[in-house]
Amino acid sequence: MADRIGGRIRTMKFADNYIDTGAQWVNGQEGNVVYQMVKELNVLDGKGWDTFLNVDWIRSNGEIMPHSLLVKLVKVMRSIVEQHHDDLIESEGTYGEYLVEKFAEHLSKPDCHHVNREWAADFLRTFKKMEGAAVDTDMNAAGYASFRPCKGDSMQNWRDQGFKQFLRLLVNGDEMNEHGLLQGCIDLNCRVRRIEWDRLDGTIQVMCEDNQQYVADHVVITVSLGVLKKNTRLFFPNLPLAKRKAINFIGFGQVCKIFAEFDEPFWHEEWRGFNAMWCADDLNQPQLEWLSDIYSIHPYAYQPRVLLGWAAGPNTEIIESIDSKLLTHGIMLMLRKFLPKMKITQPKLLVTSHWSIDPAHLGAYSYPSMLTKSYNTGPEQLAQPVNVLAYEPIGQSFVSLLDIRPITVRPLLLFAGEATSPDHYSTVHGAVESGLREARRLTGYYQKDL
Ligand SMILES: Cc1cc2nc3c(=O)[nH]c(=O)nc-3n(C[C@H](O)[C@H](O)[C@H](O)COP(=O)(O)OP(=O)(O)OC[C@H]3O[C@@H](n4cnc5c(N)ncnc54)[C@H](O)[C@@H]3O)c2cc1C
Repeated sequence: MADRIGGRIRTMKFADNYIDTGAQWVNGQEGNVVYQMVKELNVLDGKGWDTFLNVDWIRSNGEIMPHSLLVKLVKVMRSIVEQHHDDLIESEGTYGEYLVEKFAEHLSKPDCHHVNREWAADFLRTFKKMEGAAVDTDMNAAGYASFRPCKGDSMQNWRDQGFKQFLRLLVNGDEMNEHGLLQGCIDLNCRVRRIEWDRLDGTIQVMCEDNQQYVADHVVITVSLGVLKKNTRLFFPNLPLAKRKAINFIGFGQVCKIFAEFDEPFWHEEWRGFNAMWCADDLNQPQLEWLSDIYSIHPYAYQPRVLLGWAAGPNTEIIESIDSKLLTHGIMLMLRKFLPKMKITQPKLLVTSHWSIDPAHLGAYSYPSMLTKSYNTGPEQLAQPVNVLAYEPIGQSFVSLLDIRPITVRPLLLFAGEATSPDHYSTVHGAVESGLREARRLTGYYQKDL
């Protein structure tokens, strides 16, 4: 649909180099198909520092959390996240409620009696934001347990090339020929508006907004869950109930990025940025309420003059569509509040991602919601193909004038994309795995007879 390939992988020229407005890191190594595909190529670089411990945790009044306390709280939180898998599966409520309960349990132990409760509460609030936009309101704890993080470095970037490098490797392309092996096979700027899949001849008709039409034996649908939710008339006839339940009840969250380019860095080389702990009283200007969803600001790798802010939650849509003057005003106010001792300079340029408002995505990534659980649905149901009964495909050795081939189940509509991954949803490796899964489904269907 877009004027480029890549979807939520989007690398842009910015300041002295590139930025990724969507996926940025290869998250883990063991069991990560992206890492496995590129590990011999020396294209990745580990972050080499700890996002929790090497970063200042600062209140909006400028107070920095004492380091010894931070070490203690991070240790507590890591033990909750890493060691209580069975409790998580048994949980009834949201992941946020689970974290609150476990955190309180740990803090009541004798070795935590000295921990300052106010700092602990501020830390927990920001930690939940970092875990995801809907952690507090809608992400179901038991569903979250099905996510399987890949062991190994969880923040490997693509050096000065951006995630686009991976797309090039996938299609064997280069700077001059971005589409590589797929040259001539991709129609850009071509939005599918209707997929008719219940035709008498067993084919599928795909209609685009520019009136182009395609007839196909199979269609692999990889649009985001946000697009599936919004475009309820994309399929004719409507999809089966189980599929509609999955589309309606799996959650789709909002995350956004804000990039600020400065003439010169106002921070020193070793500075890793900060995680923001907003205090209620510090944000009493209604037109700036959206700032409270920005939970961290860090220097961007391979970009000496760029800071990246992350936001998650209900205000991301506002941030992604806000007027640039107000955005600059808000970011300056935030930097001054959190970093009162630094000499903040005016950014030269600010840009934001647009995932929540871009009709090609309509959100950032999927998560297991409370309704996913109540309606007993999830990525497995979304991944199920829509099948029809049809004659078996003709194998190379099978030639007959009379069509006496056996009837078989033919996958007609196949579904891939991150939201169809039961254990790696919300990631690029989950999306890639799902594509391979559906490719195998199709080759399996055709190879059965050979
Ligand atoms: C801010 C952000 C940061 C992230 N960071 C990371 C990270 O560090 N590491 C990581 O592994 N993952 C990260 N992710 C998640 C990762 O980007 C996604 O999980 C992954 O890229 C999704 O791939 P996909 O193929 O499922 O969907 P998409 O990449 O969204 O592809 C869907 C495609 O469908 C097209 N489309 C939509 N509607 C139509 C239509 N009607 N007709 C035709 N085409 C259409 C779109 O143009 C798009 O090309 C991040 C995501 C975001 C938003």
